[in-house]
Amino acid sequence: MRESSAIGEGEPQWSQVHGGRQRLAMRSLRCQVCGGQLDREKPLPWVFSVSELSALREAEARELPAVTATPPCCVPCSRVAARLCPHLVRDGSVLCLVASTEPWGALGDLYALDKKVRGRVLMQFGDPRIGLLLGKQALVAVAGIDELSPSSSEPRQIR
Ligand SMILES: [Zn+2]
Repeated sequence: MRESSAIGEGEPQWSQVHGGRQRLAMRSLRCQVCGGQLDREKPLPWVFSVSELSALREAEARELPAVTATPPCCVPCSRVAARLCPHLVRDGSVLCLVASTEPWGALGDLYALDKKVRGRVLMQFGDPRIGLLLGKQALVAVAGIDELSPSSSEPRQIR
């Protein structure tokens, strides 16, 4: 999906992910906050909400791909995100290291042949319906998730 870009203007819209910026961060493995290039030769720093990390762990336990639309985040920016992102403040966040990533698919709206639109569909590359998807965010499968800060069932913030 195409979106306009006005870097440095206006106020952050935390729940509105900019598709182009998100795709660039996923494809190039850049920090989602500052855009800095991360070292591909090392495990990547990544901040997950407590609930997303739980869902990723559940997928791993069931031997399913652990798929996320959340791009990586450098360690200094993880502290900023944990403090300012309303979702992370509400749900709690965990700073992790991710050993490997693989492009998996896209999240978007599916315009099906029955003329119904289904929002927030996760679709894997190779799915024959992918031409009917208005892609909004790139999805990657992550593997080898190690928590740098301990998780708990209570929402928490990274200090
Ligand atoms: Zn950063």
